[in-house]
Amino acid sequence: MSIEIEHCPAGHSSYSEDSIRYGRCSLCTREHFIQEFKTWSSGNDRIDMIIQESQINSVYGKLQWIPYVNFQNIEHIEDGGHGSVNSAKLENGIKANWNFIKQDWEFDLIGAKVALKEIKDFRYDIAEFLKVIKTINNYEFTEYYGISKNPSTQNYIIVMILFDYDLHNYLTKTFWDLEWLSKIDILVSIVQGLESLHAKDFIHCDFHSGNIFINDKLDPYNSDFRIDLGSVRLKNDSILNVNNKTNKIYGLIPYIPPEVLRGNEFTRKGDIYSFGGIMYEIITAQRPFADQAHDTYLMMDICNGVRPTVPDFMLNWIPEWYLNLMYRCWSDDLSERPTSVELSNSFWDVLVKLDNNIVDNDVMRQFKIADENQKNASKSQKQELFELFSYSSKLHPQSCYISRYIHTFHGLHYLLEDLISGKSADPNLLLKSNESITSATYV
Ligand SMILES: [Zn+2]
Repeated sequence: MSIEIEHCPAGHSSYSEDSIRYGRCSLCTREHFIQEFKTWSSGNDRIDMIIQESQINSVYGKLQWIPYVNFQNIEHIEDGGHGSVNSAKLENGIKANWNFIKQDWEFDLIGAKVALKEIKDFRYDIAEFLKVIKTINNYEFTEYYGISKNPSTQNYIIVMILFDYDLHNYLTKTFWDLEWLSKIDILVSIVQGLESLHAKDFIHCDFHSGNIFINDKLDPYNSDFRIDLGSVRLKNDSILNVNNKTNKIYGLIPYIPPEVLRGNEFTRKGDIYSFGGIMYEIITAQRPFADQAHDTYLMMDICNGVRPTVPDFMLNWIPEWYLNLMYRCWSDDLSERPTSVELSNSFWDVLVKLDNNIVDNDVMRQFKIADENQKNASKSQKQELFELFSYSSKLHPQSCYISRYIHTFHGLHYLLEDLISGKSADPNLLLKSNESITSATYV
């Protein structure tokens, strides 16, 4: 029996007759969300308003207020710069559609595990963050479901998809088996995300391998990486501050561009510098400057042009074209750095040719030779790689891969002489060595 229904009982017509047939009507759904506005509040008018706007206007990814009682089996994952991350089971799921046949909500994600990012940092503006994710609703980015509040701490919680790996963990597990086709595939997936952020005039401002995620399909030929948007800012925001120097910047010293370490604004070209660090990790499986203290002295080195080095034994596994591109991303001269569009196009070209085994120019010959060299790695090269991988001995105790607030040289100018002469302690040096060993996946 097939019933042709074009309108729901409330008289809404829909482009999708199929949805109407199964009792789903987007306008009814919207109306029921609106009716429920008076039944919940986050306790913050700005947050309430953004969630409400999202429920009225967004077609996909409507943000929700998720009561804390909905979370079961809460387990701590890690601590990070803005707070802590737990995993939890969403017992009742989240509201997906109002079903006019059942006269009830249909729920998504019933029993699913999600990540709860509890924000303890009072400087972090959740309403601003929600505005950003409401604007950028795209598959390349991490999915956010909504906001909750921990009743015992009164901290807000960002409820988001739970990932199995960040890029760093993923590379540590897969590095031995990755050929150039897979490496370029990963980079294409990441840089396309950056490209769409930049196309919408957003700047990521904290781009590193701990902010890039993948789920549990360790298929080196099918990488689908998502980018966390926790620190994303609208480009216009920084334009307003073009004459203002910044005293502090949030991030990881090895990925922060020299101009920002000096106190200048973060631009799209700053994200490209950070992407250079990701390119480095793809070829070495090491995070940049892992064997050094992340302190003001490293910042001075970076501003004087020091960049991470690729171990000698790896050099013949890496096309010169790739190294040149990586060093251009790291250039002190912003005009030397490629744009995300240029990077995306270059990697895409190489990906298509690698995938189809086309060796039609010098660049592609470099890739072919690099793959062969890695395949025929000598015993001593393999041993060196193995040693590099047992990196607990290599990771400097005062390195820090958890995003945090860093004093820029602008903020430090009054202290710099005392710092160099040893009269005063370095405020950028993290003394709690245990913190530097855990990796910050979410915060
Ligand atoms: Zn309807």
